[in-house]
Amino acid sequence: SPGQSFTYTANPGRVIFGHGTIAQLPDEIERLGLKRVLVLSTPFQRSEAEKLAQHIGEKAAGIFAGAVMHTPVNVTQDAVAVVNALGADGVVAIGGGSTTGLGKAIAVRTGLPQIVVPTTYAGSEMTPILGETSDGTKTTRSDPAILPEVVIYDVDLTLGLPPMLSGTSGINAIAHAAEALYAWDRNPVISLMALEGISALSGALPTINHNPSDRDARAAALYGAWLCGICLGAVGMALHHKLCHVIGGTFDLPHAETHTIILPHALAYNAPAIPEAWQQLQSVLGDDPALALHQLALKVGAPHGLGAIGMPEEGIDEATGRAFANPYWNPRPLEENPIRQLIARAWQGAPPA
Ligand code: NAD
Repeated sequence: SPGQSFTYTANPGRVIFGHGTIAQLPDEIERLGLKRVLVLSTPFQRSEAEKLAQHIGEKAAGIFAGAVMHTPVNVTQDAVAVVNALGADGVVAIGGGSTTGLGKAIAVRTGLPQIVVPTTYAGSEMTPILGETSDGTKTTRSDPAILPEVVIYDVDLTLGLPPMLSGTSGINAIAHAAEALYAWDRNPVISLMALEGISALSGALPTINHNPSDRDARAAALYGAWLCGICLGAVGMALHHKLCHVIGGTFDLPHAETHTIILPHALAYNAPAIPEAWQQLQSVLGDDPALALHQLALKVGAPHGLGAIGMPEEGIDEATGRAFANPYWNPRPLEENPIRQLIARAWQGAPPA
């Protein structure tokens, strides 16, 4: 209920959603008045980038298939050099958060417009946020120039997202929406999107795990991911995102898996301090939302615990210390022992407590 007063700022952006929507890419390039776009991807998705460039035809200036996780500044500098050498006047990013991150990093340095074609559920395309790494340090900034101009969601391009990454990427999206429900600057519009996003994703992910090419479940998941991305771009995140940032960065852990493992524990920690958000979560996830998300993670085949994805057990103390390093807002104040226990349980892959 809108019982509290609030401020809501909507982010601009044009969204095209559906099956086969990639066919509209040339029109969108035209609409933005672009003549020479650079297509971006990871090395793994190079062939998709090549297909896209072929589809764009003479308005494709070239391909840069060097996007990697955590947006290292040296990769961005290489890409900007290619932009300049080719005289590109825009970028088209096809892929997950890593490729979107590269497009944003180019845009914030050059002012070039971006068209993003997301193929995971990370949601970065809906946010004015950019995290970059340089010499092992990750810095995050927010700037309206970082927000992509156009996003083309084509459900068909997500059919090949492997089952495990589909599940963890989807729970990564759910995390944005869950924390939006108890953000200090939450508002009723974003909360509606958050609940709809969680509902769409939690319903679709088990189906996708059994049948990755189920077109309706894929459409529901991508729709949910879009909504969850809007949440991430609109309100402030808290303990869960902070822990993922700190732990993922310190031990170089895979992004979506880290989110999937930590989320049930972060929610259980915050539960006593978020009665209203907890009720809202119950309305879409059932009696015990934290346990439901732990079970969803198991159902989609997520790794069991941070230990299983490469965090050393001795890292639990360091992670605890770092969680306190830069103070940030959270509905429940940070208490050292409970936070250490939270991380230890996440490390083991135990159910949330
Ligand atoms: P990713 O982009 O690193 O993708 C993981 C791998 O899967 C890559 O090799 C990619 O090429 C491949 N892949 C992507 N889509 C595929 C598909 N449909 N089929 C087969 N393979 C596919 O992973 P991610 O989880 O999407 O993004 C994680 C990164 O995004 C992190 O660096 C994270 O910090 C960032 N991120 C940023 C924001 C933001 O708002 N700034 C939001 C979410 C994530």
